[in-house]
Parts: sequence; structure tokens; C-alpha cells
Amino acid sequence: MPRIRQQNLTAAQWSPDGAIGSVDLTEPGGHPFASNVFSLAVQRQRLPKDIFKRLHRTLETGGALEASIADAVALAMKEWALEKGATHFTHWFQPLTGSTAEKHDSFFTPTGEGSALAEFSGKELIQGEPDASSFPTGGVRATFEARGYTAWDPTSPAFILENPNGALLCIPTAFASWTGEALDAKIPLLRSMDALSRSAVRALRLLGDEDCERVFTTVGAEQEYFLIDEQYFFERPDLLSTGRTLFGAKPPKGHELDDHYFGSIPERVLAFMMESERELATLGVPVKTRHNEVAPAQYEIAPVFENSNVGSDHQQLTMQVMKRVARRYGLVCLLHEKPFDALNGSGKHNNWSMGTDTGHNMMEPGDTPADNISFLFFCAAVIQAVNKHQGLLRASVANLGQDHRLGANEAPPAIISIFLGAELDKVFDTLAAGEGDPHTPGSYLGLGASVLPHLPKHGGDRNRTSPVAFTGNKFEFRAIGSSMSLSFPNTVLNTIVAEAIDDLADQLEAKAYGNGEGDLAEAVSAVVKDAYLANKQVCFGGDNYAEEWHAEAEQRGLKNLRTTPDALPEVLSEASVAAFGKYEVLSRRELDSRYEVWIEQYALEANIEAETTSTIARTMLLPAALRQLAMIDAAGVSALEEELRGLVDEFSGAIADLESANIHPDVEGTELAVYARDSQLAAMARVREVADRLEKVVADDLWPLPKYSEMLFIK
Ligand code: ADP
Ligand code: MG
Repeated sequence: MPRIRQQNLTAAQWSPDGAIGSVDLTEPGGHPFASNVFSLAVQRQRLPKDIFKRLHRTLETGGALEASIADAVALAMKEWALEKGATHFTHWFQPLTGSTAEKHDSFFTPTGEGSALAEFSGKELIQGEPDASSFPTGGVRATFEARGYTAWDPTSPAFILENPNGALLCIPTAFASWTGEALDAKIPLLRSMDALSRSAVRALRLLGDEDCERVFTTVGAEQEYFLIDEQYFFERPDLLSTGRTLFGAKPPKGHELDDHYFGSIPERVLAFMMESERELATLGVPVKTRHNEVAPAQYEIAPVFENSNVGSDHQQLTMQVMKRVARRYGLVCLLHEKPFDALNGSGKHNNWSMGTDTGHNMMEPGDTPADNISFLFFCAAVIQAVNKHQGLLRASVANLGQDHRLGANEAPPAIISIFLGAELDKVFDTLAAGEGDPHTPGSYLGLGASVLPHLPKHGGDRNRTSPVAFTGNKFEFRAIGSSMSLSFPNTVLNTIVAEAIDDLADQLEAKAYGNGEGDLAEAVSAVVKDAYLANKQVCFGGDNYAEEWHAEAEQRGLKNLRTTPDALPEVLSEASVAAFGKYEVLSRRELDSRYEVWIEQYALEANIEAETTSTIARTMLLPAALRQLAMIDAAGVSALEEELRGLVDEFSGAIADLESANIHPDVEGTELAVYARDSQLAAMARVREVADRLEKVVADDLWPLPKYSEMLFIK
């Protein structure tokens, strides 16, 4: 039997070997939400009353933590962790690579008398000093002064990761250089949340809210991913090294039948989902939804939203746990943005909103006229922010994988626009036309008397093609890639909205309070109207996938930054630097370092793809084609020989071109990224194009790579 067929059978016959199904869900302990989290409840139970109070007072006021509190917390945390079987602890942080990093330290110190003592001090809890020389810093810290430090983030709870052979206490931390520059994704996010809170509270006061002390941004991310049998994964050096298939002819059956979307979930996949969700539940990640996605072998998981910091940490954990659990089921979880050409890629829909500490969702059209006023005001701020910083938003979701996904097969295009929905469009248009009267009961706007209609959250008018869509009580930023950390896109959203809120608040102050006798409702109407008129160009309710939109967007003057090297420079644009600087979210130096790291990462990854392509082409696919040619020669069928010889010539020519493109010119940074895109990726695409034609004519048993028709459909 040909090799691949045997593998298909093995994949299809995968069995759990009795390892699954040991959990008794009818037992009370079968639903252990947050059982591995050093949660508020655990803290209350384990910390001395006085310490608990002082800790949380410090957290609320944002002051520095006293050493005595830290020691007491460390002691309680250690005891709790040891009871849970932890032997080691780690400061868990997010360096600029976009993933998470950990360095494990044992709790145990040998006493010299043949025993060991479990130690963990407040100092060890608060601060760690990983040898940071190998984390990218974009020149902020020369490697010879390789000192970075991690600092405890008490606002994101510590948790325990279990392993069959032990457990690990993970302490979420920030990562900074000794000179105070942020070397990670968390610090800017926290700073941006503070900035937004300050701006929003100021505006709420102007709008008459006297109670709110703090505003939180919230995030709930819908994560898309693929699952394939691990045999296929390890049979494919491209998946192994780059996370995506660099070759593969379009299968006879793709997702044209739409028979997968929301279909019943295959048993093995469902078992994987249930175990991932159970494990995530113990870590306090509030997973809520699961379903099949559009492409075959594609699925989605979504949690209940949380504040941006905790939500982003939990999202990193979600990716980590899914990858790990998949292997227990003989599967590999692919988080790449575009694992399979010509099929839908995977994104991460970032649902974003702002909420007050008094429990009010500020993106929810309210039940009272005052709520209406406030909603329209903040909504206008979001529109203004998205328009002003289109380029930065696009840059915040730029990576190599995204260059293959955005604008192709049901992914939002690289053009940033905002979708408001028919109802909200009407409200803003009425206002803009000067027709809505804030004091007329029953007037459509009805600011003064009646209220905005509640917008349908699941109405037929949802637009699935927009990169930034209003969905009833939140904005959904759909352009994020499936492998990305949520931190930077949310840092951007928070910062640019903070800036817009302040701008509108300045205008409101001048209009409503300028001469001491302004009318609030009228002033808000005027401010919202001006903001809408000035930024209307970014609002679009049509089909973002259509070619006509690209033309129209260009006419409107919207940016269309197709690739990462086009988009990333927006991080350093004047407007970006000004906004990040004004709110002290990222300094010029910190932005420079991020740009450098990201542009280099792009070039490195493109180079790995290009090298992998040339190796596979020359050492696996070309030999297969030559064997086929020999077989045809032996059979003496000249028509077939001519056809194949032509293809083989084309193929070896394309490989030679790629190999010479892979020799880098002596440039770096942006120039190297542009070179990688224009020379290496272009040469790669030509190699693939011929290879995919070869796949269709070379004998199936000679073709060395598992095919799309197998990987995607056998589970
Ligand atoms: P839909 O996308 O169909 O509206 P849901 O209402 O279930 O689906 O929401 C999808 C995601 O949006 C979930 O992850 C949910 O937690 C998140 N979400 C809901 N409300 C908010 C909010 N106020 N802020 C941030 N995310 C939210
Ligand atoms: Mg959604």
C-alpha cells in the first residue's frame, strides 16, 4: 500500500487508548473553575485580614507595594502553591516576540544537612531578573548590559500550570530594562488603560456623571484555529518550521459546500475542546463558546470578556493550553494566520469596549437620555480615533502571516474602516443634517426626551466584512491575526480613543461651559455632529471584500497598506508618536525599538519561509518529479514526457531563481524587509505555483507531502 494511504488510515483510526474520559463530571469537583488560580477568594481566605485589605487598597490606588505586604502575600502564595504540588515558580511575561516567556526557579533551597527548605520571599515575588540578553529589544538595551527585570503585576492573578510530572506557579509580570523602558507587551497595555481611564472619567464628569472613579477597557477575543492530525504535521517540514503549508494544490473539495460551518463537531475534536476548556477553566479563563468555522478543519473558541489586561493574559494562556492539549489527542493546533492557501485564514476578533467601575458599559446605548448623550459622545470619539489613526491600527495587526490573510478569502482588507449599522448611521446622519433636536420628544435623536432604540445585536444588518464593526454594545476589531497577542492592538485602541475623548471633551468644555450658560445636550449634539462630519470618510457599511470598495476607499483618501513593510512605519508616524507620547504609553525610544524588532522579525520569518521552500522543492519535490519522468521514459509515452519535461524545466528554473534570491544583499532593517517581500516571497510564489501543478500530475505514491485533501478532511 502506498505510504500516504497507510497514514490516512492511521490518522482516521486514532484512538485515545483509554486515556480519555476519566473525569466524572457529575462529581462536584468536576467543574473546577479557577481551582488553579490565586484568586480573590483564595487571597481572602489565606491572607491575614489586614494584609488583604492593605493589598487591595494599594491595588486600587495604584501605589507602591510595601515590603511587609509583599512578604505576607509571598508566604501565602507559596503555601497554596506547594499544596497544589508546585515545586517551581516562574515570572511569566510577554517579551516583544509576541509569545510568553518563563524561566523556572525551584522553591527549594538545600540546607546542607541533606534536606531542603521551601523558600519564597516577597522580593522574589515582586521582582525577578532573567538573563535577558536574548530577548529582542530593538537596541534599547545592548546585550552586554543584559539586565532586564520582571515585576509582579498584582492585577492579573497568579496561577498554576499542571504537568504530568509536577506543577509550576506562574506569576504574571511586566518586563522592563533597568533604565525603565518597557521591553514587553504588558507595560504599554497597562499604561494605555490608565490613560483611557483618565480621559474617560474627565469626559464623564463633563457629561454629568459624578460617581465613576475609574473606567476599564474590556476585551473578549474570538480565536480561530485549525486542527490537523499530527502525522501530517510532522510529515511536512513547512508546517513544522513555518506554521503554514508552503505547497499544496487546491483540493477538489474545499469549503464551497459550506458543510463544515457550525456543523456537528467530530468526536475527537470535541474531546480536545472539552479538555482544553476544562483546563482553561481551572486557570480561571472564562471560556464560553465553541464551534466549527468556515474552512474544513477550522474551529473557534471564545471567552466571556474581561478587563484588557487580564483578558490579554488569558488569551495567551488559551493559545498555550490549546497547543498543548491538542497533542494529547494526536492533533496539532495551528494558530498561523494562513496555514492553507485558497482557504479561509484564521483571525482573532477583538471585541472591545469601555466600562465604568459603577458597572455601566459605555458602548451600550442606554435607557435614559443621559445615557444616550454619553453613548453618542464616546461613539463619536471611537470614530474619530479610528479615522485619525487608520495607519497605526493597520500596523498593530501587521505580521507576515497577515500579509497572506488580509484581503483574501473572507478576511477584512488592509483598508481600515468602521461599520456602524443602519440604525446608528441614521442617528449620525440625522445629527449631521441638523435635523435631530435634542429637546423634541419623539424626534429621532430624542436626546432630551426619549431614548435611542436599542440596537439589534444579532440583527440581519450585521456586517461580517468590516475590520472595525459596531456590534450592538461593543466594537469588534476583526483584523487581528490568529497567532497575535492582544496586547498591542488594544494598547493602540485605548490610546487613540483616550486622545479622541480628550479632544472632544475640550470642545465640549468650550461649548457647554465656555460662557457659563451652555446647554449640555445641545453642546454634545454639536460636538458629535462636528466629529462625525470630519471623520465620516472612515464609515462604511458595504461589502469590504468587493473590488469597488478598494477604488472607493482610495477616492476617500483612506490608507491601503497591503503588506507589513508598508504598514509598520505607521508606528513611527508623527500622529502615532504624538499620541503615545502625550499619554506616556510608549516613548519615542520604546516605539523605535518596537519598530526595529518587528521589521526584523518579518524579514527573519520571510527568510525561513524562503529557505524552507527551496529545501523542500529541491530535495523532496524535484526528485519526485524526476522519478515520474523516469517512469514515463521507461513506458515510452512521448506526449506525457513532453508535458512533464516542460514542467520540470520550469520548476528547476524557479528553484534556481529562489536560491539566488535567498542570498541576501548587504542591507538590514526596513530595506531587508522590503527585499524579502519583493525578491524572496515573490520567487517563493513562483516555485509554489509550478509545484502545485506538478502535484496534480506526479503519481500519488511518489508525491512526498500529505495533500490538502487528506490533511483537512481526515480526522
Ligand atoms: P457576537 O459576536 O455574536 O455578538 P457575543 O455577544 O457572544 O457574540 O460576543 C462575542 C465576544 O464578544 C465574546 O468573547 C464576548 O465576551 C465579547 N464581548 C461581549 N461584550 C463585550 C464587552 N462589553 N467588551 C468586550 N468584549 C465583549
Ligand atoms: Mg463576533
